[in-house]
Amino acid sequence: MKGYRVNIGLEVHVELQTESKLFCNCATCFGAPPNTQVCPVCLGLPGVLPVINAKAVEFTISTALALGCQINSFCRFARKNYYYPDLPKNYQISQYDKPLAENGWVEIKVKESVRRIAIQRIHLEEDAGKLIHGDASENTQERNLSLVDYNRTGIPLMEIVSHPRITSPEEAYQYLITLKRILQYLKVSDCNMEEGSLRCDANISIRAGTEMGTKTELKNMNSFKEIRDGLTAEIKRQSYVLNEGGEIIQETRLWDSKRKATFSMRGKEEAHDYRYLPEPDLLPLKISREWLEKLRSQLPELPSSRHQKFVEEYGLPEYDADVLTDSPELADFFEKCLKYYPYPKIVSNWVMGEFLRLLKKEATFINQVKVTPAALAALLKELKKGTVSIGLAKEIFEEMFLSGKQAQEIIEQKGLKQISDQDSLRDIIDQVIKKNPRAVNDFLAGKQRALGALIGQTMAMTQGRANPQLVNQLLREKLGFK
Ligand SMILES: [Zn+2]
Repeated sequence: MKGYRVNIGLEVHVELQTESKLFCNCATCFGAPPNTQVCPVCLGLPGVLPVINAKAVEFTISTALALGCQINSFCRFARKNYYYPDLPKNYQISQYDKPLAENGWVEIKVKESVRRIAIQRIHLEEDAGKLIHGDASENTQERNLSLVDYNRTGIPLMEIVSHPRITSPEEAYQYLITLKRILQYLKVSDCNMEEGSLRCDANISIRAGTEMGTKTELKNMNSFKEIRDGLTAEIKRQSYVLNEGGEIIQETRLWDSKRKATFSMRGKEEAHDYRYLPEPDLLPLKISREWLEKLRSQLPELPSSRHQKFVEEYGLPEYDADVLTDSPELADFFEKCLKYYPYPKIVSNWVMGEFLRLLKKEATFINQVKVTPAALAALLKELKKGTVSIGLAKEIFEEMFLSGKQAQEIIEQKGLKQISDQDSLRDIIDQVIKKNPRAVNDFLAGKQRALGALIGQTMAMTQGRANPQLVNQLLREKLGFK
């Protein structure tokens, strides 16, 4: 790849989380039985008129504002004409010469350096239906059939187009992660790639000098990792073609994740192939200053400013701030805990450690967990008071996580209170010393490690309930050390 410079542009399609479709009242639930969320409008039957969904426009404006775009006060829809079985009208309502927003950016971090990736435009369009192809290897009636489900037809899609100024697959990957996080903070989409709520196509070219090379378009990448792998493979392929004295052909290529290579799908169509024309059934959209300012005032705190607050105000390391601001739900959980227990680093350790561990183990989501931030804070207070040891606190937390019980309740029910009463501990320590003469002699002969064994024995005899610092202190006293 040496000697070539890379230009990558990304087109991200985001399914917006509206309750109804872009131009009709049909529901947008994922996974409904085929063709149950359809009506004459989204099926494109004659004599019907589309009506714009204001929520979809608001979601797009909010995204554009968060990405620093200019919002066009006047924008309009256009018909993009093409024929395909998943498109019953034979045209898609999209935006062409007057998109909703233009000229923004996404700030990304790659290897400690910060770069701004320029966004060219954001527009609103309707999704197409979904084709389900029969599996020829199966012995079913549908094996040679292709079926179409129009439930997705007309769901609002926001398309975010970057300038082709991304210079490596890693930058593309970071751009997507950062963009997805912003969209999740804005709550405009669930960004679920498996369900197709977030899809990305790339265009890519390489050049030796200043003149842009011929680009290819890359499709069929189903995760951010596949996008990074697909781009890497395509750069290698283009470099090989040029090194062999060949020419890059402008075309659409498909990424094959099994064969780890890209394959030609079709010649690239030009914009004029689609015969774009202004949509006659919809009035142009006028976006008033008041509407814009109202939406601007409702923007949530975005990941970058939250990250900055976590570092500067709470004094957390960069790494902690990265992890905790990964999703708005996690950042919220952390900040709510802080309200009840204002020790940021301790709370951060517990949220990043035990909380995330259990979340992963139980394969659940933050908004579904039974343990509340206040409950975690209450446990941390018990730990600070010395009622429980750190090891026990972790066990208690696991039970709280699974059952939703309070820390106090579990401590009392199970008799887990830490033994900090010196007299009862002294009795137990006497027994431990009697039973372990070798460890005692080793310790007296200067082997510090032997004390650990004695502490371990004491903890075992109290089922982990003894206060370890106190055991340490009492053992040393008993054995003549202060
Ligand atoms: Zn409909």
